[in-house]
Order: sequence, then structure tokens, then C-alpha cells
Amino acid sequence: MNHIGIMGGTFDPPHIGHLFIASEVLAQLKLSEIWFMPNNIPPHKDRKYNVTNEQRVEVLSLALEDHPAFKLQLLELKREGPSYTYDTMKILQEKYTNTVFYFIIGGDMVEYLPHWHNIDELIKMVTFVGVKRPGYAFPSQYPLIEVDIPQLDISSTMIRKRLQEGGNTMYLLPEKVRNYIEEKQLYGTKEGSRTS
Ligand code: ATP
Ligand code: MG
Repeated sequence: MNHIGIMGGTFDPPHIGHLFIASEVLAQLKLSEIWFMPNNIPPHKDRKYNVTNEQRVEVLSLALEDHPAFKLQLLELKREGPSYTYDTMKILQEKYTNTVFYFIIGGDMVEYLPHWHNIDELIKMVTFVGVKRPGYAFPSQYPLIEVDIPQLDISSTMIRKRLQEGGNTMYLLPEKVRNYIEEKQLYGTKEGSRTS
């Protein structure tokens, strides 16, 4: 049996919080790989900044490059319309028969679990792994494995704001990601605003 973790998200952009969580869960649960699965953002969706799905994938692949067990999973990105985790996991389980999947979520998602599409079925299909996140409660009426990880109070929202304001992002983003974002001036990054 393969034991594989999946992290779904917008990764807009991916930050060290995502990577740290993934590496900790990988180590603590002795998984063989972590698959990062970006969701699809329809091009017409009203967004304050101009980052395409292709650019999000490019940035995410740069973020994963240094870790041999981190992989990109593009199933949701390539599918039209909204992706429900339930549908995605059904497809993956049919395709990868000798695999146990662990779906990794932060505290905000743990709080939101009751509202997930088909949650009662989904919970029987996959093992959820929850990690605490500052500012979010961690109650769960659902069974999940809690992995204890030093908490980082960082988010993509906070990083986008810093990029727009020319604030410091060093050590919050992998260096390759920082460089790419600056080079392409994604998220409203202003040229020459970087101080380090
Ligand atoms: P945004 O601010 O745009 O929502 P985000 O930082 O929450 O970005 P997402 O792509 O939305 O990142 O999150 C993907 C997954 O990673 C979610 O399960 C989320 O809970 C988790 N996650 C992200 N950052 C952290 C963090 N600092 N601590 C714990 N979990 C996190
Ligand atoms: Mg989020």
C-alpha cells in the first residue's frame, strides 16, 4: 500500500506555511509523497490581480522543486467548473487502487468541514489530517488525525498584501517563488519595490 497525502488549495501564491505543513505531515505520518492539488479558478472570476491558472501552476512547481516527495496533481485544475473534493477523491481512488489517501487541511478548513459537499460520504472515503492554524478553532464532529505542528500565522492573503505594498516577503516565500513573482510582477508587485 502507498500512503499519500494530498493538499488542496488555491496556492495564490504558495508559501512556506504550505510547505512546512506538508513536510511535517509527510515525516510524522511516514507518507511516501505529498500531492499539491491547485483548484481551478475560472478565468472570468473577478479577481483583483492578474494571475492565470498557468502562472499559479508555474509558481507552485517552482515551490515544489526542491523536495523529492512533493508532486503536482493537476486533476482539479484541468477539470471545468467547480471541483468538489468528493468527486476528485472518487476519481483518484478508482485510479490508484493500492493507495491510502490522507487529505491535509488547516484549521480554517477544519472549521468549514460541515459545509463541504457530501461530507458524510467523503469522510468515509478519505482520512482527513488536520493541522491547527492561528485564529481558528479546532472543533470537529468528524474523525480526523491531528498532526501537531508549530503554528505559523501566515497566509497567501497576507503575502499578496505585502507584495502590493512593497513589504518584506523574504523567508515567507521560497526564493525561487519570490524571484518569479517579482520578475513577472504578479499580484500587483511594483518593480524595484524589493528591499532584499
Ligand atoms: P488565502 O489567504 O488566499 O486563503 P491560504 O494561505 O489560506 O491562502 P490556501 O491555498 O487557501 O492558502 O490553503 C491551502 C491549504 O493550506 C488549506 O487547507 C489551508 O487551511 C492550509 N494552510 C495555509 N496556510 C496555513 C497555515 N499558516 N497554517 C495552517 N494551515 C494552512
Ligand atoms: Mg485559504
